[in-house]
Amino acid sequence: MNIDSREGSRITLQLLKRGLITREPVIHNGRRTYKLYAIKRYDITIKVNLDTVRDIPCFTCKFFNRCGRGNFYDPRTCKFLTDWLLRVTGNGGAGKPKMFARES
Ligand code: SF4
Repeated sequence: MNIDSREGSRITLQLLKRGLITREPVIHNGRRTYKLYAIKRYDITIKVNLDTVRDIPCFTCKFFNRCGRGNFYDPRTCKFLTDWLLRVTGNGGAGKPKMFARES
């Protein structure tokens, strides 16, 4: 890494202080030293923008639990889903359907 042991120790102490590594005492070539381990952190925050999908009619549809391929309510033939798709793709559509349980 092209750093001397003094600089390495300083960096190690900083990483320990910040809780980013742990160390384990070991004997290497007859000398006492430490083996360093990175601490895995999973507190990553990922922000997701749902603006493009929040108006999908299925999210608020009162028939959602009965909807499925081959059912009376079928996404392949659903007028509400078709209208929404046509609207968001710029090909027309009749506006927001009235049948949804939760209107915004
Ligand atoms: S009926 Fe239409 S809008 Fe409702 S869940 Fe099925 S496909 Fe979506």
